[in-house]
Amino acid sequence: MSLRARLFLSYLVVVLLALVVAGTYVARSVERRYTESYAYALQVQARLVAEGIRPDLRRGADLVELERRARRFAWRPGVYIGVRDARGWKPGTDPAQPPPPEVIEALDRLRPTSTQRWDPSTGEVRLFAAYPVTDRGRVMGVVHVSAPRLWVDRQLRPIWWALLTAGTLALLVGAFFGLRISRSVTRPIGELERSAEALSRGEYGKAVEVRTRDEVGRLGLVFNRLSERLRETVEDIRAERNRLEAVLAGIRDAVVAVDPGGRVLLFNRAAEEMLGLRPEAAGRAVEEVLPDPPLARLLQGAAAGREQCEELVLPGNGGRVVEVTASPIRGEGGRPAGAVAVVRDVTELRRSERLRRELIANVSHELRTPLTSIKGFAETLLGGALHDPQHARRFLEIIESEANRLMKLVDDLLELSRLESKGVTFQLQPVDLDRLCRTVVERYAPHAEEARIRLNYTGHGQAVVHADPDRVEQILTNLLDNALKFTPEGGEIRVRVSREGTHAVVSVEDTGRGIPPDDLPHIFERFYRADRSRARRAGGFGLGLAIAKHLVEMQGGRIWATSRPQEGSTFSFLLPIVQEAPLEAAPGDAHRPCA
Ligand code: ADP
Repeated sequence: MSLRARLFLSYLVVVLLALVVAGTYVARSVERRYTESYAYALQVQARLVAEGIRPDLRRGADLVELERRARRFAWRPGVYIGVRDARGWKPGTDPAQPPPPEVIEALDRLRPTSTQRWDPSTGEVRLFAAYPVTDRGRVMGVVHVSAPRLWVDRQLRPIWWALLTAGTLALLVGAFFGLRISRSVTRPIGELERSAEALSRGEYGKAVEVRTRDEVGRLGLVFNRLSERLRETVEDIRAERNRLEAVLAGIRDAVVAVDPGGRVLLFNRAAEEMLGLRPEAAGRAVEEVLPDPPLARLLQGAAAGREQCEELVLPGNGGRVVEVTASPIRGEGGRPAGAVAVVRDVTELRRSERLRRELIANVSHELRTPLTSIKGFAETLLGGALHDPQHARRFLEIIESEANRLMKLVDDLLELSRLESKGVTFQLQPVDLDRLCRTVVERYAPHAEEARIRLNYTGHGQAVVHADPDRVEQILTNLLDNALKFTPEGGEIRVRVSREGTHAVVSVEDTGRGIPPDDLPHIFERFYRADRSRARRAGGFGLGLAIAKHLVEMQGGRIWATSRPQEGSTFSFLLPIVQEAPLEAAPGDAHRPCA
């Protein structure tokens, strides 16, 4: 039942109770007063009769005759007037039957009496009065008067109706005011309820109208203050969260936080990218949403209060290597409040560490051979060969050649290091590729002839590329050096410039020994040589192609190789064509490529 209905009903019950109590009280007292008045009237009547018959009684007149006369005083039918003797006996009745109680009392006390009782002779309730007739203290008889009680009730009936009508009117007025009062009390409470509901739906800061200064009004004021405070708090929390999200979004490491139950609380964009977390992962169990079980295990361990740090390889995504630091979050009083994991992608770091280790190993290895050779020949010379001019010269020539090799190695390493650290400036400009290649090929013609290798060139009239001419020459030189190195006598090297869409392609094809398919994908790596012993004999360190690759890529091009073992290899690189640019507009833009 609603509060309003309860209030209204209570009000109605209270009004009804008050009416019943007051009505009953009024009705009773009115009835009593009426009855008393009637009884009094009967007594007066009895007295009048008594006074009237007193002389006759004194004379000793007949009681029956007296009664007959007395009855003439009856003011309406139904009124009984009787005369009894000094003992209360009525002539003509059974002397053994005791007189009525009011008669006995009147005779005993010698004063008028009245009563209300059931009258067996008429079969109704009647009012009785008795008046003793005395003569100088001597009782001569009793006048006995009665009237039906019904007459009193008849008199009272209009009063009852008036009372009932007044009561009903009072009840109606009470109900009307009860409705108004209950509404005025419950309306602000209803408003409060609706506002509280809006608050629970997240509509903060909604104020209720305060109309009164009573308890409900004060409750409204407190509610408004509470709602305002809540809005401020929620805004603070929201701002705090936004700041946190902004900070998290700015962190390149993946960050994932879980609650003590292992449910995901929050994560940043890096976590979405690195760990494949979807936005709907929030609120779900960490082992469900994280693809990597060890990572979920680390987070759960941290949530249980243990600091965790481990390096993991993530499944999928190219097997990224990550370093995970998972720490417990402590809440108030040091209670565990979950855990946060910071996942750092260390793939590149580990790769560069591995490359550095490999580089040191490779460089040491490459240095060792010529140094051993130099040391050996120097010792031989010191050991006496110095005095043998013929041998001494040959040994010194070997020492010089090895020293040159060492210098070439150091130069190549320096070049590679500069290229990798982007410390090289490119003078990009329109370059006539055809003319440049032709010039380089012409320069190589004597070497080819010496090695009995045919060297020819096929040009492409219109191939102006956007490049650094010195660097393009360096690339082509590297490729031609290799072709000459790995092509046997009687072989052939063909250099060709062609066009492929927006790029010009330079290819160097030889009929040399070719490259085994297993080695082909690696030949552009540093220190990689397809046939180690032979390549070393040929004087190479496996750095030329790595340098060429860097040079091509840093000018916006691409380099690749195809080969059929024992039939030959083709090395090609492409560069972007500049068609519109006039060749004369030479001074190229200084260009320093960045990562
Ligand atoms: P290197 O100084 O040893 O020649 P490169 O980086 O230029 O170093 O070449 C790497 C390896 O690729 C060589 O050792 C060789 O095995 C292979 N290679 C390069 N060019 C050719 C070619 N034209 N024919 C066959 N093998 C080649």
